[in-house]
Amino acid sequence: MSQPGTPGAPAGLQAHNGAASASGAPYSNGPVPSAMMSSHIAVNQGYNSQLPGSYPHLLPAKTLNPASGQSSYHASQGSGQAFHRPPVASHPVGPSLHSGPVPQMLPPASQSPAAGPRLPGGFPPGSSPLPPVNWQHSPPSLAPQASHCPPAPSQPTVLGNTHLSAHHQYVPSGDPSLQNSCATSGSALPLRNPPLPTTFQPGAPPGPPPAGGPPLVRALAPQKASLRAAPQPSFNAAVNQEGITSNTNNGSMMVHSSYDAIEGGGFLATPQLATKNPQMSQGVGYAYPSLPPGYQNTTPPSSATGMPSSSLNYPSGPQAFPQTSLGANHLTASMSGLSLHPEGLRVVNLLQERKILPATPLQPPAPNLHEDIQKLNCNPELFRCTLTSIPQTQALLNKAKLPLGLLLHPFKDLVQLPVVTSSTIVRCRSCRTYINPFVSFLDQRRWKCNLCYRVNDVPEEFMYNPLTRVYGEPHRRPEVQNATIEFMAPSEYMLRPPQPPVYLFVFDVSHNAVETGYLNSVCQSLLDNLDLLPGNTRTKIGFITFDSTIHFYSLQEGLSQPQMLIISDIDDIFIPMPENLLVNLNESKELVQSLLKTLPQMFTKSLETQSALGPALQAAFKLMSPTGGRMSVFQTQLPTLGVGALKPREEPNQRTSAKEIHLTPSTDFYKKLALDCSGQQVAVDLFLLSGQYSDLASLGCISRYSAGSVYYYPSYHHQHNPVQVQKLQKELQRYLTRKIGFEAVMRIRCTKGLSIHTFHGNFFVRSTDLLSLPNVNPDAGYAVQMSVGESLTDTQLVSFQSALLYTSSKGERRIRVHTLCLPVVSTLNEVFLGADVQAISGLLANMAVDRSITASLSDARDALVNAVIDSLSAYRSSVLSNQQPGLMVPFSLRLFPLFVLALLKQKSFQTGTNARLDERIFAMCQVKNQPLVYLMLTTHPSLYRVDNLSDEGALNINDRTIPQPPVLQLSVENLSRDGAFLMDAGSVLMLWIGKNCAQNFLTQVLGVQNYASIPQTMTELPDLDTPESARTIAFISWLREQRPFFPILYIIRDESPMKANFLQNMVEDRTESALSYYEFLLHIQQQVNK
Ligand SMILES: [Zn+2]
Repeated sequence: MSQPGTPGAPAGLQAHNGAASASGAPYSNGPVPSAMMSSHIAVNQGYNSQLPGSYPHLLPAKTLNPASGQSSYHASQGSGQAFHRPPVASHPVGPSLHSGPVPQMLPPASQSPAAGPRLPGGFPPGSSPLPPVNWQHSPPSLAPQASHCPPAPSQPTVLGNTHLSAHHQYVPSGDPSLQNSCATSGSALPLRNPPLPTTFQPGAPPGPPPAGGPPLVRALAPQKASLRAAPQPSFNAAVNQEGITSNTNNGSMMVHSSYDAIEGGGFLATPQLATKNPQMSQGVGYAYPSLPPGYQNTTPPSSATGMPSSSLNYPSGPQAFPQTSLGANHLTASMSGLSLHPEGLRVVNLLQERKILPATPLQPPAPNLHEDIQKLNCNPELFRCTLTSIPQTQALLNKAKLPLGLLLHPFKDLVQLPVVTSSTIVRCRSCRTYINPFVSFLDQRRWKCNLCYRVNDVPEEFMYNPLTRVYGEPHRRPEVQNATIEFMAPSEYMLRPPQPPVYLFVFDVSHNAVETGYLNSVCQSLLDNLDLLPGNTRTKIGFITFDSTIHFYSLQEGLSQPQMLIISDIDDIFIPMPENLLVNLNESKELVQSLLKTLPQMFTKSLETQSALGPALQAAFKLMSPTGGRMSVFQTQLPTLGVGALKPREEPNQRTSAKEIHLTPSTDFYKKLALDCSGQQVAVDLFLLSGQYSDLASLGCISRYSAGSVYYYPSYHHQHNPVQVQKLQKELQRYLTRKIGFEAVMRIRCTKGLSIHTFHGNFFVRSTDLLSLPNVNPDAGYAVQMSVGESLTDTQLVSFQSALLYTSSKGERRIRVHTLCLPVVSTLNEVFLGADVQAISGLLANMAVDRSITASLSDARDALVNAVIDSLSAYRSSVLSNQQPGLMVPFSLRLFPLFVLALLKQKSFQTGTNARLDERIFAMCQVKNQPLVYLMLTTHPSLYRVDNLSDEGALNINDRTIPQPPVLQLSVENLSRDGAFLMDAGSVLMLWIGKNCAQNFLTQVLGVQNYASIPQTMTELPDLDTPESARTIAFISWLREQRPFFPILYIIRDESPMKANFLQNMVEDRTESALSYYEFLLHIQQQVNK
């Protein structure tokens, strides 16, 4: 039984769907006319048409000036004409990227020195579902490039039992080397989904947005005046968001996403396939004993003896099935014994219960599912929903006044990730959902999609379980046992040969930049990590520097030293000898190292103050566009020359005001360029190191729309600001060595009846719901908003699935799939009981950033407050039977007012004097780009007292004892001068030492004689041979180990300037411009009880 399908299928023919066996060779994926395939591929090519080896935009190089930059190039006018090679290119540069599908296309197995240290014998790309086509992206102008898509099954697919088993492995995801380092960064302002009338009001149904205010908003403005501005600011998005226009108007950007075709999409070829199903399943069904039904269908595991007869009665074919009754029964049974902790059912009076913060870090609520389902569910660190019980109608959701949405961390570094190499990736023929633990098996041969309910065939190959080596157990396959799984994608999932890793660094070398001394740090960091850049023998690297001119560096193998080429005509950028500028890292490593060593000195005498960032970005884009890759841009000031030049907009006295501040870009240059980049699979990461206003609102667009990230180091200076220097070093180390995915797309699907409408994060939305991610990194988070379209009354469970298709740094095409399953409920009380307050707060923060930009900051703040008032009012009026005094909240939402207050005091949304504009924008970027867990730590840090750590309740991990001090509420009430307190704010740890801190702590932990001798800038604890030191270090290390980046520890004395940052996070306390927690509660209560 092996070698089914694939070999038989004519080359170039791709099955649409694993399940579509009927129309093709037995059990193989149904062949699809190759024309279809190629045309799609063609259109979809992310690659541009010039591909194979041509460099259309190359212009004649004029002069090359070795070393420092005098001679300039005056690009004689006209870049576009002459296409001859630059004179200088001494020899043809190595393997051109574009030359054909060649080396890159090795079958995954042979080429995986890579991401998979494992994967012994991988399956060669075999046949597997080729999704129907309908997404588009890639410039319409692109010519078909069918040739880039290798014919599918070029090699026999081996599917023998034994063989199969070999292909399944649980491997650590990602390169081990990447497991830890530095910080994440945010970026990105709101991104909108094109046609969607972003409805932010939790309750608002999708569809055309209500013209005026949100539906159901209370009309009682007067008393609320202070917090609620006139136009009822709940999150009801203005339709006219900038993102929308970009999508629709930006013809040039409107690339047709070939990936749409690949990752999922339409409904190809389903009809005739369906008709053949019956025979197929029967034939096999007789041959093998009946299957224990798939997961959901089982009665409790022990008693699962055979296929329930009822499942045999399902007609095959059409999708019209109600949700499987078996799963439902199971679920119903579980409902009565609510999995909720009894505490969860409690109603809390917040005005009485002042200590509501749990002493241990808050855990996400577990959905109220049968434990057999829940144990297969997706890890909440990867995939979370704001409501773990989904309201069955939009009306019910509207009543709850809570936002419905998902928070994702799809590319998180994982310790364990099942990776499947198989020729058949089984997906629903209708909706393209990947088979997952929450589908139902009707019998051995048919499974029902949990998203659209279509019944699909089980392909022959899938009958064999490589883990147990048993045939006839499709429901035990890893794909059906793991909510998170990664597939090695066969060639159908490629629009072109997987791109090589390409890294281009763009450095500001103006006088200002040189003054900061950042080049030393960055070049040193690059030197240190050069061999750790994710990649393989195909890795390419290049460098551009700029001030008022643009400088390229020829690193062609064989040169004795790097050659600098200067282009001074910044109005008409061309690339001299492009093939020598982005070079193979292995072949030119010495030249690269030599450049990195000399670069910091090359410009020390420069007096050039101007900054031609825009032209430099254009040049970088041109250089990278044939391949795609990652562009890392370092900028230290406001760009002043050429396209993209900006003017100062910040007025110091505006900092205090909540309105009239410039949160929107002043030019669309950066956004447009970002979209061009996105179309060519280039992501731009921006490192802004500037002491002065640099208009991050405009600059940040370059990263936001190209799926990059923004890093910000205000007042970076190599001598005056050592703390920033250290932060940059740590963050760079993480940045340079962490996993990276190239030319990625992500799609999120959900059960029929639900619809996804607004997306948050850094990406560009193509074809309505396909997120284009030229790069994807493990530190990026995303959020989406949803609504209930059709009633879910016939449904007990709904599922959400995200599929991320990307190219690994080793050149493998992979698909990472996460599936989350949640129960549907019919009462408001159940909706409230299942609320996930962290996810809700995170989603609201994303919505508030959009709101700040489309409306105003004060609007956004009001909307945040109203979100609390509205939901608690709904709870009070519709759930609570007796109207008690106080502020009554469901246990699940007891921290909601606190978290919203924390958001109001967060840099993004705070009012007051200390929010500089760029810092505020950066905070907003982070809200949009950070995974929920870090967003919450940034917003509401964890505070611990650490001068009296004990082993009581400590964790024991690998012989290490890790103290677990209780989490304290964020109020100065909890501080005392005789103690030491550690605040964990995600990317930063702050250890504040009280003036009268016990001598013991000073000597045994800090290693100093007295308070006065604590160094002013101390960022490490000495490793002393005392139990106190061991405990403190164990605790801090443990905190750090739980995140992939390395949070810097600031040790703060009472009089240190950093103390203000520490105190700023005391969100329960009153400040000049903000209420205390208790005052806030009183305000909420007043509004709720109206
Ligand atoms: Zn489906």
